Amino acid sequence: METYDAAIVGAGHNGLVCAALLAKAGRSVIVFERAAWIGGAAVSRTDVWPGYTLSAASYVCSLLDPWLVEALALRERGLEYYRKDPYAFTPLPDGRSLLLGSDPAANAREIAAFDARDVAGFEAYGACTDRLGRALFDSFSDAQPDFDAFDAPTQAHLRGSAADLVERYVRTPVLQAELVNDGLIGTNLGPRDPGTGYVLAHHLAGRVLGVQGAWAFVRGGMGSVSAAIADAARSYGAKIVADAAVARIASVNGRAVGLELEDGRTVRARTIASNAHPRTTFLELLDSGALDPAFRAKVEGWRSNGPSLKLNVALGELPNFSARPGTTPQPHHRATIHVAPSIDYLQRAYQEGRDCGASSEPLIECFLQTPTDPSLAPAGKHILAIFAQYFPYDRADGWSAAQREDAADRIVAILGRLAPNLPNAVEARMVLAAPDLEAQFGLVGGHIFHGVLLPGQIYGERFATRTPLDGLYLCGSGAHPGGCVSGFPGKRAAFAIDADLAARAAAA
Ligand SMILES: Cc1cc2nc3c(=O)[nH]c(=O)nc-3n(C[C@H](O)[C@H](O)[C@H](O)COP(=O)(O)OP(=O)(O)OC[C@H]3O[C@@H](n4cnc5c(N)ncnc54)[C@H](O)[C@@H]3O)c2cc1C
Repeated sequence: METYDAAIVGAGHNGLVCAALLAKAGRSVIVFERAAWIGGAAVSRTDVWPGYTLSAASYVCSLLDPWLVEALALRERGLEYYRKDPYAFTPLPDGRSLLLGSDPAANAREIAAFDARDVAGFEAYGACTDRLGRALFDSFSDAQPDFDAFDAPTQAHLRGSAADLVERYVRTPVLQAELVNDGLIGTNLGPRDPGTGYVLAHHLAGRVLGVQGAWAFVRGGMGSVSAAIADAARSYGAKIVADAAVARIASVNGRAVGLELEDGRTVRARTIASNAHPRTTFLELLDSGALDPAFRAKVEGWRSNGPSLKLNVALGELPNFSARPGTTPQPHHRATIHVAPSIDYLQRAYQEGRDCGASSEPLIECFLQTPTDPSLAPAGKHILAIFAQYFPYDRADGWSAAQREDAADRIVAILGRLAPNLPNAVEARMVLAAPDLEAQFGLVGGHIFHGVLLPGQIYGERFATRTPLDGLYLCGSGAHPGGCVSGFPGKRAAFAIDADLAARAAAA
């Protein structure tokens, strides 16, 4: 039986990055993926509604490491993205709205319509978040992630609340809400809670298309990222096997030595990298005696209950917003659409989710990718990707089919207050509450990032690439720097594995 240099559990985009870089370095690699598709949460599904290509989970891209794009020649392999510009739109019930994009003069006009004093504050806020985002991004490849290496003001922003950061610079409620939103994604906390400053900066760390903090749509949906990385991996000789769930990571004398699949197949490998959630990796796939009790306790205590709900909707026509009428594509149809008019709205949304198990006036951000890439839907049709909070995984009364439908009805009704044609334009919908994200994507607790991204679970306190079991590595979002479609955890694991294999060979 062949012994691979590396066997990888899971073909999420990070597992694929790890495979591609190792194979490019001349290592023999095999990847096993439980699902029928590859890419994990970075997927474009064509099997949900005829004629539609759905970014069923993640939907926009910013943090993907530009180094990887070059090293794996991803553009040559079909990866194409276009900047989301304008990037944020909030229609208000009174007919006003706020639209922000890359043009400073247009932003100044939009903001001045609410409060001219905020024009300068918004610029200063942008300079501050650029600095924070840059500092984070530059640390994502550090061999030893060290939060304390940030200077004191940076640490204070990251440990503080998103609301504190935003309110320091601007006073207009709708502008504050639009900016604070990024600090709440995937986080079961309110905007005034400490640590949401880190989440905000994490979402502004990317530099897609060379622009700090910019976000982009990927042509063909998020699965195009995974497809390009998989193409690179295969071209360098890696094998990728879908529909192949790993049941066990085999270890002998304190070293990982191979994999056992659910269908009974086995494979031997010098190293194992797991793209699966840390709890799956350490509590389900490893024998219970393979870890020391302290490490096991860390895994058991890992906070990974998510508050997010994804609602994918097929529309017969574009939303006709009362604030900016029309159903032909306009700039605001290309932006992230928010509904929150103020930070207080978002705080109430969080508190209601926490106290009642579901928010009746939730955080909602939506994207229409079809005005930019019409190939994703049949002619004249559209896809609205809706990301909503707060709908906690562990709601006290559980998650029934009726509760999922209620949440979806509520979200559509709220959007209908701003775009009255929307409810009747809905032709199909797919509701993914946190338990569905767990069941379909293996995201334990439904957490979109393999565990919350807050102080206590970031940098040196996130899981390290090298695990306590010799030869076992974590190559997914449970490792530094955590979630989003970035490729960093996969890259870090590939470098560690390649170096350790070389050291082992030299010592032999
Ligand atoms: C609804 C939603 C919206 C999001 N929106 C965005 C966004 O717009 N932009 C962004 O950057 N990020 C977004 N994210 C986060 C981002 O998608 C994830 O952080 C990222 O895709 C995780 O990648 P990964 O490779 O680390 O892990 P995953 O994508 O989770 O991949 C892990 C893989 O391991 C497989 N696996 C697990 N167990 C086994 C086993 N026993 N055997 C074999 N295979 C196994 C799984 O099936 C899966 O394919 C979103 C996530 C969700 C869920």
